[in-house]
Amino acid sequence: MSISNNTPLHDLGVAELGQGLRDKRFSSVELTQHLLQRVQSSDSQLGAFLHVDAEHALARARAADSRLAAGEGAQAGGALIGVPLAHKDIFVTADMPTTAGSKILAGYRSPFDATVVARLNAAGTVSLGKLNCDEFAMGSANENSAYQPVANPWDASRVPGGSSGGSAAAVAARLLPASTGTDTGGSIRQPASFTGITGIKPTYGICSRYGMIAFASSLDQAGPMARSAEDCALLLSAMSGFDERDATSVQQAPQDFHAQMLSAREGATAAQPLKGLRIGLPREFFPAALSADVNSAVRAGLAELEKLGATLVDVSLPRTELAIPVYYIIAPAEASSNLSRFDGVKFGHRAAQYDDLLDMYKKTRAEGFGAEVKRRIMIGSYVLSHGYYDAYYLQAQKLRRMIADDFQQAFKQCDLIAGPVAPTVAWKHGEGKDDPVKAYLADIFTLPGSLAGLPGMSVPVGLGEGGMPVGLQLLGNYFKEGQLLHTAHALQQATDWHRAAPAGI
Ligand code: GLN
Repeated sequence: MSISNNTPLHDLGVAELGQGLRDKRFSSVELTQHLLQRVQSSDSQLGAFLHVDAEHALARARAADSRLAAGEGAQAGGALIGVPLAHKDIFVTADMPTTAGSKILAGYRSPFDATVVARLNAAGTVSLGKLNCDEFAMGSANENSAYQPVANPWDASRVPGGSSGGSAAAVAARLLPASTGTDTGGSIRQPASFTGITGIKPTYGICSRYGMIAFASSLDQAGPMARSAEDCALLLSAMSGFDERDATSVQQAPQDFHAQMLSAREGATAAQPLKGLRIGLPREFFPAALSADVNSAVRAGLAELEKLGATLVDVSLPRTELAIPVYYIIAPAEASSNLSRFDGVKFGHRAAQYDDLLDMYKKTRAEGFGAEVKRRIMIGSYVLSHGYYDAYYLQAQKLRRMIADDFQQAFKQCDLIAGPVAPTVAWKHGEGKDDPVKAYLADIFTLPGSLAGLPGMSVPVGLGEGGMPVGLQLLGNYFKEGQLLHTAHALQQATDWHRAAPAGI
């Protein structure tokens, strides 16, 4: 999009806003005020924010304007100075409350910032507040938030996806150019797909988990959500990198994902920037039960990638279906352990009346946790208990390794893997709420990559049933974020799907 003087500020993405700020076409204070006004006028219907802090945001915007006035915007690392965003409420923040979408953390304030937040603050971004999510990131529809559901900006009667539903809806509704999300089993990719935005879950270990409230520690990974691959690349460069406070953080030098996104492939031509790229289509990702609308949008996206020079090859990920039971054993097992820290002693809510310590724990947790969280704690405790550990947890761990090995087999025949993000477009509010297993089954295409720890993206490729967005999932091998972003960027340079906005926005 060329920045014309009459493009409204909320229609501009991160890269364009950064440019406009550096060119002094508008200030960060003006931009922040504009977006705060939009949040005030439309978020009561959307429900994307759990907390908005105008005063803080404007103070940070003023600080960013001073940095820009001093010429810092043109220096390395200056691309995000003054750019507004907001964080999923699962990242702890010192200057705002953090709830993880749970009543048990109502009123909780962290004494420190999550590393991802601290890094984006240092890069000069201006946080408007905290974004709604499923309780402890458990869910696929944002209906497990203890506070409020989130409407899909494309159709308020539908869910925005989850668990990063607030992060997705706010970006799709043009309340924010970008946001942070987390993905344990698909929570960046699936809401991005349901709301027509772009999101990337990097390789496990690329972004620090320090200060990201733990759901399933071996799977949880932070990532950016924005309207283009380019914007995601800018954010990912700032939020990633080694952190000694996270033992699973990857020890590598800071990466410039934007430069990686731009770097031309060997043998590429102007008309065929993806020449030589082999994209594998796992046959298990295109089952007969896949909705026809999702299938045709995904095929349209793949056809564009072919026009850009990529070749499509058939591959197999034979254990795709097993990813569901494997994930829904491992993730609850880790959750049951991680959530034991919420006991009424150290954080947030404590029952008002109780007889003794044990009674205090029980009442606090019974009152503080919602139904889905309790369900997962029970499943997790069960599969870890004596006598069942070998039958469930250990088996699941073995299968997890085999699922990861299947990807390595597939990557012998291709550079990237592509398929749908989800079997359908966003469903109606209420559907799936009474049947958790139905929601679990819809995670089938995102879970395998999560279990393997691979990087994955959702890129908009058109509209399906009810005019709802469809995302193309791209999965790369470990540390191939640059290749994913390059591919998605090439697609977005050639097509307009990522520019489509919900009606009336
Ligand atoms: N839908 C999946 C779940 O409910 C994934 C959630 C996530 O990635 N945080 O666990």
